[in-house]
Amino acid sequence: MGLSQIKQRIAAAEAAAGRAPGSVCLIAVSKVQPAERVEAVLREGHRLFGENYVQEAAGKWPAWRTEFPGVAVHMIGPLQTNKAKLAVELFEAIHTMDRPSLATKLANLAQARGASPELFIQVNTGSEPQKAGVLPGDLDGFVKDVRALDLPVRGLMCIPPDAEPPESHFAMLAGMAARNGLDGLSMGMSGDFEAAIAAGATHVRVGSAIFGARDYSAR
Ligand SMILES: *Cc1c(COP(=O)(O)O)cnc(C)c1O
Repeated sequence: MGLSQIKQRIAAAEAAAGRAPGSVCLIAVSKVQPAERVEAVLREGHRLFGENYVQEAAGKWPAWRTEFPGVAVHMIGPLQTNKAKLAVELFEAIHTMDRPSLATKLANLAQARGASPELFIQVNTGSEPQKAGVLPGDLDGFVKDVRALDLPVRGLMCIPPDAEPPESHFAMLAGMAARNGLDGLSMGMSGDFEAAIAAGATHVRVGSAIFGARDYSAR
């Protein structure tokens, strides 16, 4: 596929949904990808990336930030509380805030640093036992608690169940964001970002459709 085709498809999906051009941020998910593929996308001018693993991001991005000014990296993978300190130093945003202990930790770090990454609350829209995220019934209370900690909540994030059409999950997330007065919606991946844009996504997270398939055995 490649970057320019994905950008064209995003523009077409924005237009089809009657949304302003450029209203959707493309997060190029670079986890596990070989350096030369990421550098090619950086040289094409793209500056917003997503990573899943704190250690991997810590090894890759400091040098690229120096070489390519304007880079922003968002954390989109599960975040262990004991990696939160490193994470707030590495990322402009964290999309996977999903529990009170992590919120408290991030609030303490924000106090100490006088700054915080933008935060998205991950919602387990399918209530899947193995999946991270706040359960839908717990979300409104969690949003209140997080706001009381003075944390910058930008919006909500979800990963729909593999085996279901994603549309109802995207619509559910959009409804939960609206009723909580949140306008950021991090949803949509390589296989379903157009449906997510139709449902109001502000941030789509696209990896393999830009970079090619990930080879986990080569790590
Ligand atoms: C890996 C990952 C993506 C990108 O997935 P693709 O199918 O390669 O586009 C998006 N979001 C999250 C949370 C991921 O872990």
